[in-house]
Amino acid sequence: MWQPSNFSYAHHFYIKSARLGQKRVLNVSTGYDVIVIGAGSGGSVAAYNFAKKGFKVLLIDRSSRDRIGEKACGEAVGKHHFENLGIRPPAGDEVAGQVLGIDIFSPDLATVLRVKGEGLEGYTLNRLVFGQRLLNDAVGMGCELLDQTVVTEPMVHNDSVVGVRCRRTGKTKMQEISSRIVVDSSGVSAVTRGWLLSVQGARERILDEDMEICYVEIRRTKHIEDPSYLQIYLDQSISPGGYHWFFPKGRNIVNVGLGVQMSKGFPNPRANFEKYVLSRDILKDSTKMRGAGGLVPTRRPLCSLVANGLLLVGDSACMPNPIHGGGIGPSMIAGKLAAEVGSRALESNSVCSEDLWDYNAEYMHAYGAKAAGLDIFRIFLQKCTNEHLNYGLANRLIQEEDILKASMGEELRLSIGETAQRVFRGISHLSFLRALRKMACEMNRIRALYRAYPQPRELSSWADDVDNIISRAKSMKL
Ligand SMILES: Cc1cc2nc3c(=O)[nH]c(=O)nc-3n(C[C@H](O)[C@H](O)[C@H](O)COP(=O)(O)OP(=O)(O)OC[C@H]3O[C@@H](n4cnc5c(N)ncnc54)[C@H](O)[C@@H]3O)c2cc1C
Repeated sequence: MWQPSNFSYAHHFYIKSARLGQKRVLNVSTGYDVIVIGAGSGGSVAAYNFAKKGFKVLLIDRSSRDRIGEKACGEAVGKHHFENLGIRPPAGDEVAGQVLGIDIFSPDLATVLRVKGEGLEGYTLNRLVFGQRLLNDAVGMGCELLDQTVVTEPMVHNDSVVGVRCRRTGKTKMQEISSRIVVDSSGVSAVTRGWLLSVQGARERILDEDMEICYVEIRRTKHIEDPSYLQIYLDQSISPGGYHWFFPKGRNIVNVGLGVQMSKGFPNPRANFEKYVLSRDILKDSTKMRGAGGLVPTRRPLCSLVANGLLLVGDSACMPNPIHGGGIGPSMIAGKLAAEVGSRALESNSVCSEDLWDYNAEYMHAYGAKAAGLDIFRIFLQKCTNEHLNYGLANRLIQEEDILKASMGEELRLSIGETAQRVFRGISHLSFLRALRKMACEMNRIRALYRAYPQPRELSSWADDVDNIISRAKSMKL
């Protein structure tokens, strides 16, 4: 096992600069090999894997230890993530229900696509219990945990992240803690992302329209007929640019919520939830156990996930699946890869962005390329009217197998059936059919681009190519 004995922490002692302004500095702690900001799914997996390699890891979270893992979430996760990552699958109290697939309902409720297959099997979780297990695994592997502590910004010296500034929750005294590597897995707070994007030239912006704002409740309800299928309802008037969901947690408890795209003038998701979702028959006489709001980034991952001494993991790097917002799996993939690449960099005593670059390429291969393809699909779907969705689903323009393939990251060759072609030929929806085909081509194009992830010096022209595809998708007329 590698020991960090020959490494000097001296250069990490931060020279207090004018940037500190009026803040009081409590002390400067001696360093860790790794500081992980946020002990959610991404951070706990990253911390566990760094500690497993023998590094000295500090995990910092703003929540109290017993609340870490609790968050507004649909609580659904695919089985394949655990198989692929070698992480113990959820068991016992972590699991609320087994999932075999997803039913997707058209806005007029006339069509239901049942998508099932190995890639869609999974679990509905008891999120807190699951989160606590990931945290306990990390602590059990030797990570130190500093809970109830808010990281406010990265400590930066000579263009490198060399630690974090933080304070106890509810207090103002600042503390500085140094480390050789910082992993930012602070979720949508994305504590270091502003700094990362600025050193990359501030060309990439996270747009509101690429975020979903959601409201979710856990409710006790009457008997759920078929609890092994998640239900997704598309309706641009109720959940514009998003969907509402009904995810059974066994036969009598359901995770039910609604998300809308944060585009100009978006409606309040809670108001629409209460007005349109709670009135559904299955929820009549149901009782609320708890409710919360939350944000999900639903776009391709950041073009680069690294800077000197810094790796971004999970929602802070916009990693959730752009179509359904599932981000537990991608955050765990990223946590594991970040620890693998970061450990190699620590072992070679050099943690600049070039030394961490393999994390970019490995993540884009593992999940980023698929997410970029699905981002194009998301942009297309958000343009669809209810009429498009009703026609498209009723005529099987997109079939169950297409959705399954796209969700697994395979090339999307739309299996548009003969009947559908006949229905649409010569009528006003022909342009919709053309746009659907064009969208499938753009999906394949952007995926190929992400698979050919560039070397550092080619990043800028590669990002231009990404931007061009995204602009074409955004300006596509249906
Ligand atoms: C309503 C909703 C429904 C969702 N449904 C699903 C679903 O069904 N399936 C799925 O896979 N994904 C779902 N997601 C997305 C999923 O929850 C996230 O993608 C996933 O949790 C990301 O993990 P993470 O580790 O990046 O961040 P998080 O799990 O959000 O963890 C971030 C951690 O950082 C801590 N933190 C934040 N800021 C600071 C700070 N400044 N200092 C210290 N600590 C900090 C937080 O306390 C938290 O513990 C949903 C999200 C929402 C909002």
